[in-house]
Amino acid sequence: MSSVTVCARFRPLNSKERRDHGDSPSCIQSVDSENFIFKDGKEEESMFCFDRVFYQESLQSDVYDFLARPIIQDVVNAISGTIITYGQTGAGKTYSMEGPSILENKDQNKGLLPRVVEGLFECLKLDDETIKYTVKLSMVEIYMEKVRDLLDLSKDNLQIKECKVLGVFLSGVTEISITDAAEALVHLSNGISNRTVGETQMNMESSRSHCAYIFTVQQESVRDTRLKTGKLILLDLAGSEKIEKTGAEGKILEEAKTINKSLSALGNVINALTDDSPGRVNHIPYRDSKITRILRDALGGPSRTALLLCCSPSPSNAAESLSTLRFGTRAKHIKSTPRGNRS
Ligand code: ADP
Repeated sequence: MSSVTVCARFRPLNSKERRDHGDSPSCIQSVDSENFIFKDGKEEESMFCFDRVFYQESLQSDVYDFLARPIIQDVVNAISGTIITYGQTGAGKTYSMEGPSILENKDQNKGLLPRVVEGLFECLKLDDETIKYTVKLSMVEIYMEKVRDLLDLSKDNLQIKECKVLGVFLSGVTEISITDAAEALVHLSNGISNRTVGETQMNMESSRSHCAYIFTVQQESVRDTRLKTGKLILLDLAGSEKIEKTGAEGKILEEAKTINKSLSALGNVINALTDDSPGRVNHIPYRDSKITRILRDALGGPSRTALLLCCSPSPSNAAESLSTLRFGTRAKHIKSTPRGNRS
């Protein structure tokens, strides 16, 4: 059994894709809720199988129910979880993660983040006076291999540390105590507005950084004075497209190279974790990038992880979608190992 739940999501065709290829052409032929055939437009066909496929008509609530709801339940029971969105710029990562607006909590299109916040507070047994809960929020972005605190911009180079008790943690990161979902959404919205964005040919406002939303849930019971902690990380990765496709120059080119390097490092960690060949080296290169260090517990460690592969269904983006789907296929073969077994 894979320890990473891997789902693919195809967004609807956008107006440019419709102009280029007409309304109907799509690379995707649905088989069922787990299997589909991908046609790359050059007569090549590949079959893919994931834990769940969200086709164009799927709802934000479908994604939340399948991918996030079980993880929230675990986090409340002190089992940490991570939800990652991966894909090229414009494929729907931020739409899936945030939705059109973080603060519009009545919107049916609201994304994973506002749903997770609400779901988390619904799961806490707040009326049970024998349990004291503390929920803390941190937000960081990894930009040009530096970890910036989005809740306090003066902290622009946080260090990642590890210890046996806490696992991986960000030294000195701002942690805001939150008491309800509405309060959390205001802080999230402020943090998101501090994110680094840039313009590329792919998307007028594309995220040039990886962004992590970290919720730490602590509970203390009067019966059992031990503190139980569960950590939930939602990670919106920067676009995975090839550099040539971004039309990048100068600073944006440097950003794109750094993003590509860190996503390659993520791919290398996944390759190492899934390498079952007899002569394999037992070294997992977590230390090669900030993102892989932060994800150490999520990938191959003692936590529950879900990966949402965001793709365009259009033939004009077939190469990038195929690369995203292959990344997900490899991630599906990760098996969890107890912390520290493979270093
Ligand atoms: P990314 O974060 O991967 O760069 P976005 O989430 O910004 O991409 O999506 C690009 C555009 O596509 C946005 O205008 C977004 O609203 C739209 N979009 C993405 N996914 C969907 C979806 N499932 N349904 C409707 N619109 C979507």
